[in-house]
Amino acid sequence: MNAPKPRFPAIDAHTHIELDGAEVAIDTMDAVGLDAMVNLTAGTVLDFQEGQKVFGGKHADRFAWCVKLDFENLDDPAWGKTQADGLEAAVKAGASALKEVKRLGLGARWESGELLKIDDPVLDPVWERCAKLGVPMFIHTSDPLAFHQPLSQTNERLTELQAHPDWVFQKPGLPSKYELLEARNRVIERHPKMKFICVHVANFPEDPVTVALWLEKYPNMYIDTSARFVEMGRHHPEMMHNFFVRFQDRILFGTDTGISSEHIMLGVRMPSDEEFFKREDFKEQFLYPYFSSMYRYLETDDYYIPSSTPIQGNWPLHGIALPDDVLKKIYIENARRILPGL
Ligand SMILES: [Zn+2]
Repeated sequence: MNAPKPRFPAIDAHTHIELDGAEVAIDTMDAVGLDAMVNLTAGTVLDFQEGQKVFGGKHADRFAWCVKLDFENLDDPAWGKTQADGLEAAVKAGASALKEVKRLGLGARWESGELLKIDDPVLDPVWERCAKLGVPMFIHTSDPLAFHQPLSQTNERLTELQAHPDWVFQKPGLPSKYELLEARNRVIERHPKMKFICVHVANFPEDPVTVALWLEKYPNMYIDTSARFVEMGRHHPEMMHNFFVRFQDRILFGTDTGISSEHIMLGVRMPSDEEFFKREDFKEQFLYPYFSSMYRYLETDDYYIPSSTPIQGNWPLHGIALPDDVLKKIYIENARRILPGL
């Protein structure tokens, strides 16, 4: 396959690039026509200096970088303030946003072993500081519906769960997907001045009607498309076209590509990543089809576009043929407007 190019300049607003991965990331961007990448996981609020050096240094025009929280001393009464101060220092050093991964709600725990709830007031100082600094937060809450449903031969994502058994979240002691999403939405409602970019189509691409209701209800909620093209692509293209047009100012193009000097993760980490990355035809056979599928989904009305991430669903996608002005917003303009430093 030839190298695909997006129809307009584009920023991938959802990537994970390791500290040794900047060169490979630039090569990847040049190969698939991307202007910049937002590295969501460049460090933590207490340890971002290396990330700043790599992604904010000589390559600052190709990257934006974000930091995660550090849950190490959660029981310390000063935890919230320490995290907020760390965030402020990171933002002053150039960080574009705060990012939190699915451990918030599913993994981060108090010393007692109890899970930290997403809407626990201990996090309020962090949310308030985000609002004050004018930086958004990328928030990942719960996972695909199938990961929260019983593990069985008929689970829709069985193959993916076989590769990642630790992603089975239907277990005693873990909240349901709906409890997690409701807790996230309470935080969004409680902090109207702060922008929340709810990744993976607000972690509910299975039900775009509900996501639309949320976007109506919470003007400070944004979404990205990362690693959910397959879920979006199974819905009726006209419905998804209307969804994108209606919320054209609130959607960011993102892929969830992961990069180091040794591998490229195409939406989902796989045991074969390192092996395939070494192949001479890696770009033609893997990288190009992956990006081509996502560009075609947004830009064309093609039927039967091959899945960008077959392990997340090996069914064809139906393109939603967005108008040029909407495409420009989703590819680049919304990210530039919302994220400082781009
Ligand atoms: Zn991600």
